[in-house]
Amino acid sequence: MTTETLNFQAETAKLLHIVANALYSEKEIFLRELISNASDACDKLRYAALTEPELMADDADLQVTLTVDAEAKTLTIADNGIGMNRDELIENLGTIARSGTSAFMDSLTGEDDKDVALIGQFGVGFYSGFVVSKLVDVTSHRAGEEHAWTWSSDGLGEFTITEAEQARRGTTITLHLKDEEGEFLEAHRLRSVVKRYSDHIAIPVILTAIAADPVEGENDEEAEEPQDEKLNEASALWARNKSDIEKEQYTEFYHHVAHAFDEPWSTVHVRAEGKIEYTMLLFIPGTPPFDLFHPDRASKLKLYVKRVFITDDCENLIPSYLRFLRGVVDCEDLPLNVSRELLQNSPVLNHIKNALTKRILSDLEKKAKKKPEDYAVFWKNFGAVMKEGIYEDYEQRERLMKLARFRSTTQGDDLVSLEDYVSRMKDKQTEIYYVTGDDIDMVRKSPQLEGYAARGIEVMLMTDAVDDFWVRSVTDFDGKPMKSVTQGGTALDDIAPEESSEDKPEAAPEGDTSSLIVLLKQELGEAVKDVRTTDRLAESPVCLVADEADIDINLAKLLKAQGQDMGPNTRVLEINPRHDLIKSLAKSAGEAGATDRLADAAHLLLDQARILEGDPVPDPAAFARRLSQAMNAKFG
Ligand code: ADP
Repeated sequence: MTTETLNFQAETAKLLHIVANALYSEKEIFLRELISNASDACDKLRYAALTEPELMADDADLQVTLTVDAEAKTLTIADNGIGMNRDELIENLGTIARSGTSAFMDSLTGEDDKDVALIGQFGVGFYSGFVVSKLVDVTSHRAGEEHAWTWSSDGLGEFTITEAEQARRGTTITLHLKDEEGEFLEAHRLRSVVKRYSDHIAIPVILTAIAADPVEGENDEEAEEPQDEKLNEASALWARNKSDIEKEQYTEFYHHVAHAFDEPWSTVHVRAEGKIEYTMLLFIPGTPPFDLFHPDRASKLKLYVKRVFITDDCENLIPSYLRFLRGVVDCEDLPLNVSRELLQNSPVLNHIKNALTKRILSDLEKKAKKKPEDYAVFWKNFGAVMKEGIYEDYEQRERLMKLARFRSTTQGDDLVSLEDYVSRMKDKQTEIYYVTGDDIDMVRKSPQLEGYAARGIEVMLMTDAVDDFWVRSVTDFDGKPMKSVTQGGTALDDIAPEESSEDKPEAAPEGDTSSLIVLLKQELGEAVKDVRTTDRLAESPVCLVADEADIDINLAKLLKAQGQDMGPNTRVLEINPRHDLIKSLAKSAGEAGATDRLADAAHLLLDQARILEGDPVPDPAAFARRLSQAMNAKFG
């Protein structure tokens, strides 16, 4: 039999090293990870056997067995699940084929606690075997195939693949334990680890009897036959009574289904009886999974039918804005051999999806009301995803808008709701003001906010990319239209300035800005869409805004960053008639020779507005020359 030696994918080798170090303080979890994989493999087999019963053959008692060989210092974890063929062994254990691997590697911090949580999310379960082993052999026989193969590695840089003898279907993992890991050869240690981490596994985990050495002089007949021992409860956790389940058991189950290491933020366990019967055991993770924004927006919820695993890739089970949920839905009213097409159009699934969505939203509403601080943690983790629902789920739009939280110009770092905002609106204020951008500190400094601040008007600060999209899809909240402060005109002068406001805006000046505006338009030509005065500004002389009919400023930036051709996208230049510079320019514009005198000033004003917007200056050399000349005029 030939043995082939292959190299680990470079990233796999690096990851293995990190896993071995980061997980060391919790090394016993290797057993949970390997049992979890074995249980998944049995789930997959059971599902495949629905359509191909011959795969199950006469080996229908699915189980995981642990076997210790104290002399050889090996611990073996075996299952009779789906198994892997040669290619699958190489693909699954030698490479990390998943997208996002490099993003994952970059996100590692070098701090063990944080890295452990990240590693857990990434699901490097199998590699945890190397934390306690100097050599790992995996012999596997894929159900329905002829040959078995052994994958073997010391976890350093290479692995080997050899054809093997293993008639029985499934996977056998033999860990050659490091010298100092002898504790995992002891029955009591294995018993306690399995009880602690894997009690909820729905198939039996069996510790095979270790034949004791015969004691000299003892009568062999009387010696007790060692018995195999079942170490776990071996019933699906979600099918048990809520009152019989401890919090720790829920947490361990969450770790198993979500490949997570953290504590769930909340757990929902519901059994629905009636026309359609199902059980759901759902978790909202305590930390955001790092593939939350993967473009496939896929759900990871597992669908079971009468305790048989069907799929963890069911599009129609939850709306994608709830894709952070982890857990299980087990339905009594679907046929076991349910096809993909049927799942897609199933009224049963639709019913469950609606019920599940309503339940999650109503739980969140309760949390938001009773424990706002706790809710804020949830919102910081998943708010950006939830907001996708505002434009996708018309039916729940109202509820989702009420659940949404934002920061605002008047409330520091506190999160505020739209209802809070509306309750604080000024007399005569008819619109809900917001500004979007990708960085909260930059957004807070937007010149377009000055006029609102001067009048004590609150503005919502929106810094998730999705904000630019959902605000466009809603007409109003509570009858109040949503209005971007970087687009269109303003009606601020209708709203009385606050008496107490320190930077109360002065009344609009008497002086005439019309000649200046004509001049600016002439000089700037196509570079601007329009030039007009505004009451949006206080300290700044100028700013750019989108015309009412154009795409808003931040949205245009987002679309451009995504590679969409936005065309020239010219903006309206707004000038602040109360600003000293504008006043002087206006005065100068009315005097002889103004066109020449103000040409450079016009360009400098526009470039300044661009810089304030974080936009590049299209002709930096010309900008520098004009700026030098202006400075020279003052100091030269
Ligand atoms: P994850 O379980 O998060 O996918 P692992 O590294 O633990 O990551 O496993 C990688 C893959 O190897 C699994 O997705 C599965 O396809 C396969 N695998 C692991 N263990 C087994 C097993 N006991 N039987 C069959 N396939 C397995």
